[in-house]
Amino acid sequence: MSTRVPFLDLVTPHVELEAELLASVRSALTTASFIGGPMVDGFESDFAEFCGTRYCVGLNSGTDALRFALMAAGVQPGEVVITVPSTFIATTEAISQVGAIPEFVDVDERTYNMDRVKLQQYLENECDTDCSTSRLVSRRSGRPVSGLIPVHLYGQMADMDPIRELAERYQLILIEDACQAHGAEYFSRKTKSWQKAGSIGRAAAFSFYPGKNLGACGDAGAVTTNDADLAQKIRMLRDHGQARKYHHELEGYNGRLDAIQAGILRIKLKHLTEWNQQRRDRAALYSEALESASEIVRLPTEPSWSRAVYHLYVVRHPDREGLRAHLSERNVDTAIHYPIPLHLQTAYRRLGYKDGDFPVCERVAREILSLPMYPQLQPGQQNQVTEGIFDFVKAAFPGPIPVVNGQQSVRHTDCGR
Ligand SMILES: *Cc1c(COP(=O)(O)O)cnc(C)c1O
Repeated sequence: MSTRVPFLDLVTPHVELEAELLASVRSALTTASFIGGPMVDGFESDFAEFCGTRYCVGLNSGTDALRFALMAAGVQPGEVVITVPSTFIATTEAISQVGAIPEFVDVDERTYNMDRVKLQQYLENECDTDCSTSRLVSRRSGRPVSGLIPVHLYGQMADMDPIRELAERYQLILIEDACQAHGAEYFSRKTKSWQKAGSIGRAAAFSFYPGKNLGACGDAGAVTTNDADLAQKIRMLRDHGQARKYHHELEGYNGRLDAIQAGILRIKLKHLTEWNQQRRDRAALYSEALESASEIVRLPTEPSWSRAVYHLYVVRHPDREGLRAHLSERNVDTAIHYPIPLHLQTAYRRLGYKDGDFPVCERVAREILSLPMYPQLQPGQQNQVTEGIFDFVKAAFPGPIPVVNGQQSVRHTDCGR
């Protein structure tokens, strides 16, 4: 009997770093620096450097990072912020929490990220320009469109050149949701250089939820930006609107990054580049092993302009539930990110979207399956996963598997079973 391949391993990295992590916690205890202080400052400057930005502001979560970025960049209540329906609900919660209205555009079938053609069509065909204010107005809600949040889903960046160009043309505040993309890179054809996630928009939001590529031992998040004023505004928003104690220039929030979490993140950040490379290696191994079944089990696509960090390794199969049950019987844990598109969630009934509005996102949501993916994943474990997938594929299509170019290949079909 094979042992279980867990979906995630959050124990091993912390056991490996235990002495260093405990020393950092101990130093917080002995100095009683729990709020702000050198650990927070140190992590902020390290993470800004990692992302290639001038500023990083540590916060208590990725959700607040998105919310404060929208507020500080000037999105007003009653305005529309565009995003995708295939993301975690935090993206749209942040939009609603600043009093704005989320509106969606569909995703690209291959990358699962914002489709630039759909974005352009939305801006050109589903919005009007208000003659008196020369602002873009959504026909759907009759509200001015002011913001745009592409999500770098599963650790791969959205196609940012055209997205940035459209944001500039229509004067939209561009905020990256980089909560799954710490260290992901994008080759800009415009600047002819690789750019890190979090360095392209007006600001970007990161989450350090434990399961993310860089995770705290609890909740944490950050905003990165090159804009000094924006960074300063977020520093005030996270701390009750004060830059000086008890001098409240505005009404803010309690959204600070804990010093203990900052100390932990600073230690783990030193390993992030190596961990991301290990994720890329494991993704390459999956893709190589599953290549001959790739007409039935669709594998992740990485365009030449992308260096993904594989927060998740997501495959697709028409009979996703069957594959998932089969893998579970073979002691392989899997997950679904995300089973219900946001526009079909009960929480967003008020937005008035219906089934069929975003066909790509809806089809993808029925077929996606996230396989175990983490730096500590072993080749033997990956074997167990891919063998489980192969015997599911064979059971569904009995008969000899034709040999193409000396390689085993599975018969092409477009239906499950
Ligand atoms: C995790 C995540 C968030 C929210 O981060 P929290 O730290 O849990 O608040 C936002 N957007 C995306 C895409 C995420 O994956």
